[in-house]
Amino acid sequence: MAICVLCHQRKGKRFCPAVYNVICPTCCGTHRLKKLNCPSSCPYLRQAKAIEMAQRESEWARRNLERAEIEQRLTAFALEEAISTFASEHPDLTDAEVITALQAVQDAVEREVMSGINHEPNAEGRAKELALKILKNAQTMRRRIGIPHNVLLARVARLLSQKAMLLSQRNRDGKGYLRALLVDIKPNSLEQLLDRLSAPQTRS
Ligand SMILES: [Zn+2]
Repeated sequence: MAICVLCHQRKGKRFCPAVYNVICPTCCGTHRLKKLNCPSSCPYLRQAKAIEMAQRESEWARRNLERAEIEQRLTAFALEEAISTFASEHPDLTDAEVITALQAVQDAVEREVMSGINHEPNAEGRAKELALKILKNAQTMRRRIGIPHNVLLARVARLLSQKAMLLSQRNRDGKGYLRALLVDIKPNSLEQLLDRLSAPQTRS
């Protein structure tokens, strides 16, 4: 087999259209589009481009996934702050009412996504009151920092109602979720968070 015309060391396994001679894979990879003026038709260039682009796209997707996770956490905070605040005003509130409210929020938002028309949460009494408060918090956050969009809002309402059901089942008194929530999320703390998030970046 011929020797690579670039390094004169390794076997020239690839026909290089740029030098119009055989080169080795190492020189091909090292000098591609740098020292070598590779034509787009070169199959080795095409293959390398395809691999590189796929890597870059997956890096980009990973970055976006991180952003999606942050948005989801902020949205969950907005919803749970509404519940925490409401619970501090109604000490006899139960997990069941919270679950009903979250499910009503999810349902209303999903209907809005499907139809483009605003829907009232379908619940009664205190659960409805809480559902409206949750929606109001989501709207406040959206106005201030641009999230959540409705698809995310519906998703987070669903995840939180599942979380509440799980934590509620672990306790006989039907307040396992609310107890854990009040430890994690201070009532009336949304404004403080939004102020911090929307403050202009200052150097001190
Ligand atoms: Zn070589």
